[in-house]
Amino acid sequence: MRSPPTDSMVLPKISRGSGHPARQVIVTTSWDDEHSSNLKLADLLRATRLRATFYIPTGSLGIGEALTTGDLCDLAAAGFEIGAHTVTHPVLTDVHGERLRSEVTDCKLRLEEIIGREVASFCYPKGRYNAEVMQALSEAGYRGARTVRMLFCGMPQRPFEIPTTLQTYPHEASTYVRNLVKRRALADLARSSRDIVRADDWVALGKALFDKVLKAGGTWHLFGHSWETERENRWDAVRELLSYVSNRPEVQYVTNGELAELIRSGYRLRDEATAAAQTLAH
Ligand SMILES: [Zn+2]
Repeated sequence: MRSPPTDSMVLPKISRGSGHPARQVIVTTSWDDEHSSNLKLADLLRATRLRATFYIPTGSLGIGEALTTGDLCDLAAAGFEIGAHTVTHPVLTDVHGERLRSEVTDCKLRLEEIIGREVASFCYPKGRYNAEVMQALSEAGYRGARTVRMLFCGMPQRPFEIPTTLQTYPHEASTYVRNLVKRRALADLARSSRDIVRADDWVALGKALFDKVLKAGGTWHLFGHSWETERENRWDAVRELLSYVSNRPEVQYVTNGELAELIRSGYRLRDEATAAAQTLAH
C-alpha cells in the first residue's frame, strides 16, 4: 500500500466572517468489523484522500474472509487508525465483570501487539453501552468510543459517546426517528425532520447533511460495514458520497481517535494552532 497523502494532516483554514466566531468543519469516517472487503474500502478512501478508523474484533482474524494480521499492519502503515471492537463481538451491556474487562482489554492488547502502536479508540458492538461499559473502557486506557447515534451534525462533546451522522445503509425514515428517540436526541430530531424525508436516498441525505455542516460548522461522520457494501454491491454509492465530501479546503479530515482528542481538548488545540500561525504571520 502507498502512504496516505500527508497534506490531509495540515490544519485547514478556519473561516472567519466579520465578527462571527470561527466555524470548524470536521469530517471523519469509521468502518466496523473484520471482513477483508475493508481492503477494497481502504483503496476507495485513499483515492478520495479521506481519513478513517477501522474497528476490528480480534477473535476471528485470519479465519475465512477476515482480515489477516498482515492486512492490519498494512492498513496502519497506510495511515488509517485501527480501533478495537471487542474480541467476540458481544453486546457489552449483557456481559459484566471479568468477561467485560477481557472483551475490551484483550482486543486492545492484541491489536497493539499486531500493529505496534497504541490502540486508543473503541466501537460498541451494535452500539450498546452503559456506564459500566464506559468505565471498563476508561480503565483499559481507551481515549474515545463511537456509538451508532445517527444524524448528528454538531460538535461532539463526550469522547466515549461519539455520535455519527450517517450509515452507508438505506434506512427507512422510521429507523432514523427510532434511533434519535431512543437516545433522547429530540433536538436533533426536530432539526433533522426535513432531512429524514430524504431517507429513501441515503446518498442524497448524506450530501445534504454535509452541505449543512459545511455551512454552519460541525462534524460529519460516516460509518458503515464494508461486508455489507460488498454484499449489497453498494460500492458506487459509497464512492459517490466519499467523493462529494473529499478535497474540501475548509474541512479538517480526522480519524475517530483524533476527533476524540479534539473533544478532550475542547477543540482548543486547533484554535491555538491557528492563533499561533496568525501570530507568526504578522
Ligand atoms: Zn460490529
